Amino acid sequence: MSQLTSREIRLKSRPDGEPTPQNFELASTEYSSPAPGMVQVRNHWMSVDPYMRGRMYDRPSYVPPFVVGEALQGHAIGEVIASGDPDFAVGDIVTHMLGWREVAQGPKALFTKVDTHGIPLQAFLGVMGMPGMTAYCGFLEICAPKAGETIFVSGAAGAVGSLVCQIAKLKGCKVVASCGSDEKAAWLKSVGVDEVVNYKKASSLLKAVQSAAPQGIDMYFDNVGGEHLEVALEVARVGARFAECGMISQYNATSPTPGPKNLMYVVGKSLKIQGFIVSNYAHLQGRFLAEMGGWIKSGDIKWEETVMNGIAQAPAAFIGLFSGANAGKMLVKLA
Ligand code: NDP
Repeated sequence: MSQLTSREIRLKSRPDGEPTPQNFELASTEYSSPAPGMVQVRNHWMSVDPYMRGRMYDRPSYVPPFVVGEALQGHAIGEVIASGDPDFAVGDIVTHMLGWREVAQGPKALFTKVDTHGIPLQAFLGVMGMPGMTAYCGFLEICAPKAGETIFVSGAAGAVGSLVCQIAKLKGCKVVASCGSDEKAAWLKSVGVDEVVNYKKASSLLKAVQSAAPQGIDMYFDNVGGEHLEVALEVARVGARFAECGMISQYNATSPTPGPKNLMYVVGKSLKIQGFIVSNYAHLQGRFLAEMGGWIKSGDIKWEETVMNGIAQAPAAFIGLFSGANAGKMLVKLA
């Protein structure tokens, strides 16, 4: 049986606050040819995503915690290089959750074949993958937009936020966005966002959003939590809908963070605030792929990528998410 060496990133220790390179280790593992029912894949691209920070805590959640000493997991896309199952042929392109490693091997049920229709492979980790589906379902199902309404999007230049902004424009909404650099703001403007606030430069985030949306907001798509959520509550119009997608400003907190001091507006303004996990909307995947694929082909949706090269860069790519090192989807190119 031929042996194949693969490098992978393991969780060395659980981060306390901001993750550091010392929380990760690069290690090698050996694979034999896949046994019957098993598939072996060379990963071309892997994704790093903010939710992975939650899996680094040892606490119950909607996905189990990562295990110290074991390879991390996450979305990846690659090419079958050996197969022990007739359903998978060498050369098939597959997505799966065995990222953070150069080669993935496991039972065939872990792998999903992808017909790329000429779309670049890495898009299936971003605009055509989990972040795209998050933006599509969270915005359309929870915000339930109507043409002419105003939405505020935080984390707007990232993988999810940048797509929410553009889908909102396609639905005829006014989009007010917040992000952490002037370059990101300029890109958002270039794809049609009406007003952009650089929250790192604004002397008052509240005043900046009030001036960008003088009539208030009908919808808020929250990727950030904290002060952004408080501002959204302040400027919300009666009956506004909030899609609570993520709260990245709190993922590295070492003690409980205070809630918004103006939460009482939920009552007085009759707000609908709904959290969600993208998997709640698994039944909408076919509709998402068809509609997003169409928008990509027509040029209605654009996206950015920040690419780091090689498995050894995966921890830096992940850590960079918390300082805004990425514009658009943060990716690691493996092959
Ligand atoms: P991004 O591509 O947006 O990357 C993270 C970005 O967050 C950074 O680039 C940075 O941008 C911003 N950021 C980091 N720290 C802070 C902070 N303290 N305050 C404000 N902004 C910060 O990530 P994703 O698009 O993949 O994810 C966006 C959000 O959606 C996350 O909260 C994530 O957990 C959530 N999510 C939820 C899902 C669900 O099923 N509910 C599924 C997928 C994602 P900047 O330069 O603008 O600061």
